[in-house]
Amino acid sequence: MSVVTGGAGFIGSHLVDRLLAHGHRVRVIDDLSNGRLDNLSGCAGDPRLEVTEADVADHARIAGVFKGVDHVYHLAALADIVPSIDEPLKYHRANVDGTASVLEAARQAAVARFVYTASSSCYGIPDEVPTSEAAPMAPMYPYALSKMLGEQLALHWCQTYRLPVVSLRLFNVYGPRSRTSGTYGAVFGVFLAQKLAGQPFTVVGDGSQTRDFTYVSDVVNAFVAAARSDANGDCLNVGSGGTYSIRSLVDLLGGPIDFIPKRPGEPDCTFANIDKIRARLDWQPQVSFVEGVEHMLAAIDHWNDAPVWNADSIAVATERWFECLTPRSEAR
Ligand code: UDP
Repeated sequence: MSVVTGGAGFIGSHLVDRLLAHGHRVRVIDDLSNGRLDNLSGCAGDPRLEVTEADVADHARIAGVFKGVDHVYHLAALADIVPSIDEPLKYHRANVDGTASVLEAARQAAVARFVYTASSSCYGIPDEVPTSEAAPMAPMYPYALSKMLGEQLALHWCQTYRLPVVSLRLFNVYGPRSRTSGTYGAVFGVFLAQKLAGQPFTVVGDGSQTRDFTYVSDVVNAFVAAARSDANGDCLNVGSGGTYSIRSLVDLLGGPIDFIPKRPGEPDCTFANIDKIRARLDWQPQVSFVEGVEHMLAAIDHWNDAPVWNADSIAVATERWFECLTPRSEAR
């Protein structure tokens, strides 16, 4: 039996589908602040699925859910840069206190393995590319900091209480069901909504920056392999094996461009060195960038109700970003 926190979210719901398909029983904990029950509609009514609507930081409320559980997949978290700058305490509670609360519940229930969802944003603007797990931690904004602190908690529970922990550092995950809420967020959702509305793609800078876009089914494979492995106290990058420019994404999606200003704190390249996860988990990415983008275009109707961002609305939404992340030496 598995617990998936954040199981009604983008990646969590794909993981739940996979675990059920493999015949496992699954308990989801999700406060539905970003997650949506709709994401689990494919398995609604499955007697092996139980959903508890709760905030993971509410330890008393969630502890009982872990009784008799083998694997804990901790994906519940708040994402995105801008709101984390505006509301750092909210992010600390969800991503740091929430992780401590889930770790304690997992420890009390003596689970066999705890898989933590870490973020490539912990590397900040890395000097080493492809970036290995040994690269220094350099979070540039509160979201990245909160995910890094959550990982440190998980490793500490491993060290102090012998809780078997694996931390997966995810690079730019994309796929169907990626969030489409009101918050300005990941590039795929922004671009697909713009394409549906017949609006230009808002390309940051000159679009030559590259991202290690990793397809969600490959990420789910990594979670399942991590839970089944004997890895213990390991941090493992999860990437696609490549890095792709925003211009190449626009070429695949097809449509006009509106260039918007480059912003501070963003790396020009994210690119995971995945040697360690290949060796430790015998895991390989399977879905190429071209195939992944094809899957996204096939599912584009999902973004019908998504907010359509443009240069002006993005300028307003990212005002605090520029204010807080511009290096002091460059700020006016
Ligand atoms: N990006 C863009 N236009 C947008 C939003 C994002 O060109 O409207 C670019 C952004 O500059 C970055 C890449 O897309 O280089 C990925 O951005 P996202 O926010 O998805 O991920 P992250 O920057 O956190 O890796």
